[in-house]
Amino acid sequence: MNYMDGFRRLEAAVHFRARLAGHGRALAGQGRKVHLMEVCGSHTMAIARYGIRGFLPEQVALVSGPGCPVCVTDPGLIDVAITLAGQGVIVATFGDMVRVPGSHATLAKARAAGGRIEICYSPLQALQLAIHHPESEVVFLAVGFETTIAPIVAMLDTAMRQGVANLSLLTAFKLVPPALDALLADPDIRIDGLLCPAHVSAIIGADAYRPYAERHGVACVVAGFEPLDILYGLDGLVEQLVTNKPCVDNQYSRVVKAEGNRQAQRLMAHYLEPAAAAWRGLGSIPESALVLRRQFARYDALQRHGLTLQPGRHNPRCLCGEVLKGKIRPRECSLFGVACLPEQPLGPCMVSSEGSCAAEYKYEEC
Ligand code: SF4
Repeated sequence: MNYMDGFRRLEAAVHFRARLAGHGRALAGQGRKVHLMEVCGSHTMAIARYGIRGFLPEQVALVSGPGCPVCVTDPGLIDVAITLAGQGVIVATFGDMVRVPGSHATLAKARAAGGRIEICYSPLQALQLAIHHPESEVVFLAVGFETTIAPIVAMLDTAMRQGVANLSLLTAFKLVPPALDALLADPDIRIDGLLCPAHVSAIIGADAYRPYAERHGVACVVAGFEPLDILYGLDGLVEQLVTNKPCVDNQYSRVVKAEGNRQAQRLMAHYLEPAAAAWRGLGSIPESALVLRRQFARYDALQRHGLTLQPGRHNPRCLCGEVLKGKIRPRECSLFGVACLPEQPLGPCMVSSEGSCAAEYKYEEC
């Protein structure tokens, strides 16, 4: 048995199913139904992959949240990246972004039309591109939450130390806590418990969720991505709600500390400062983005190339915004599985490897 098998043991899953059923009976006795949100797209994918929805009693509804950075990115960012590619800049990006629709086209189409678009599996590959192509400008499409921001900033730090001058960032860095604040402030959205993201929490720390438990009375559990991690987390959330004792329970302590990763936090604070950002579905949220500080403006692709970020045009029939707020299930979008398919996505939630629509299409019966 290897290490990971310990997080996938069937008998443990059966144990959690029984516990959840017991919690379901307790909730039924209280005349309640609770709504849990898995904030993180990787949780969404794992929940679909392992059929975890089928473990839940009917008194527990599980909805997806805005924790897919590709999905919440405004199409205007893709428009700018396409413009840059058209100007001969090498645009380096994570693979998912290539197929995300901008206002009029995708980066894949821009590449087919001759644009220089390179897929990177890590930020360091963007740095390597810049080093190997000193004659070209390289722009890294820097999309991500706290988990991804930290390594991208570390890459920028390395680039600056090495004197690499032909690299800049087109940033779409977003922060999870302000999005949770916006969701909890929305009277149309009901959230009783948060399955808190695993890797984001490794950076920001489990203590970041205390306001949600202490001020809003929302149950919070930080959980890993393995099936037993998720079942354990859901069991903990429902137990907090049954006993009416909301708190922050860090069940992923093998990775997440209460205070997070201080070194990463310091590095991010050195290079970046908060700003407002437009989120798909959630609109503009103050201080929900991180942008390069003024003294690092030469590494800001917009400033370096004299461009501005304009709000992009969403496909009006795509309901990704509603999916990202947990208001609808993907299949409630009329395009799901009909006009919108993984090989022909009309919205980012069907593109992304963390997208709710992709997860549901791939793993759940339609
Ligand atoms: S099915 Fe496609 S169009 Fe509909 S919400 Fe999902 S990604 Fe958007």
